[in-house]
Amino acid sequence: MISFYPGPSRIHDQIPKYVKDAATLGIMSMNHRSDEFIQLSKRTIALLKKRLRVPKKYTVFFTSSATECWEILAQSLITKKSYHIYNGAFGQKWFEYTQHITNSAQSFKFDKEEELDVVDHIYSSNDGVICITQNETSNGTQVSNTILKKLRNQNPNHLIAIDATSSMAGVKLDFKQADVWFASVQKCFGLPAGLAVMVCSPRALEQVKSKGEKKHYNSLLFMTEMMERWQTTYTPNVLGIYLLMRVLQDMKSINSVHKETLERFRQWEVFLRPFESIKMLINNQEVQSLTVLSIEAESKLVTKIKMKAKKQGILLGEGYGELKNNTFRIANFPAIKESEIKQLQKFLQTIE
Ligand SMILES: *Cc1c(COP(=O)(O)O)cnc(C)c1O
Repeated sequence: MISFYPGPSRIHDQIPKYVKDAATLGIMSMNHRSDEFIQLSKRTIALLKKRLRVPKKYTVFFTSSATECWEILAQSLITKKSYHIYNGAFGQKWFEYTQHITNSAQSFKFDKEEELDVVDHIYSSNDGVICITQNETSNGTQVSNTILKKLRNQNPNHLIAIDATSSMAGVKLDFKQADVWFASVQKCFGLPAGLAVMVCSPRALEQVKSKGEKKHYNSLLFMTEMMERWQTTYTPNVLGIYLLMRVLQDMKSINSVHKETLERFRQWEVFLRPFESIKMLINNQEVQSLTVLSIEAESKLVTKIKMKAKKQGILLGEGYGELKNNTFRIANFPAIKESEIKQLQKFLQTIE
């Protein structure tokens, strides 16, 4: 089965070999307080920073999922308010999870065809974390680096947190324009689920320190103390970290990866243009995600396409949330092969 699901998604071809290597090398029973683990953790973090161009002063953490990161931030970073600016299901979930914990989250919805207007988001009170879903996986939209930069310039005193789960390692992200970035690895990283990375600026960690929250196993304060020794507060997904290291070793610089993602995206655009019964859900080029394509069609046709594709060994992404019936999604992630894209395109040509 060729998976075009936008998460869990197609894993890199080499993963089975790396799992085998992990077994041979004893990684699967490696002690998480051992020197070997410390070396693995240190090496993985250095590679992540290098490949993705994360500022040197930022700290990288390992967590189990993006969802865990939502909760960590609500518990340990947000002191009073948080401003959740979103246009889709994942942004909304982040808002809701935060609201359950802090009871002071505010939501600001914008239309999926609309470019986020930063003028509407100048916050006067100095306190409050601005939360943005950079790539909204549910509808295939993104917030550009340019907009994030404007948002940062207009709110210099606020911390900004970014969910980049379905874009990190697939497109170039300007890490210095925000204080917290996180992503789970089962999307653009092309790895099996069960691990996420979270990147924090020194300013974010200062706020964590002054908040001093110590009620949870995943209190960011404890995590920071452990990460000073390249460790985690609980036994982490050591195999996942090892696989991440191997994939990062193979990975080209994010600039080349970005170029390839963009080229493939353009190719999809040209391919889809002549179709009458299916079209891109998002019309505004400025907000179209490069890594997740949401395709719109009549609900009967959507069902037929997904079913027929499956029979041919192609797994398409279901529509998400309220878009379930009228859309399907195609991941444009680095692990997907050119030949697989050709195969899907050949199939789509038969449906019209
Ligand atoms: C997939 C996804 C999540 C959830 O990731 P988990 O690893 O399941 O917690 C959160 N945010 C976005 C934008 C996603 O695409």
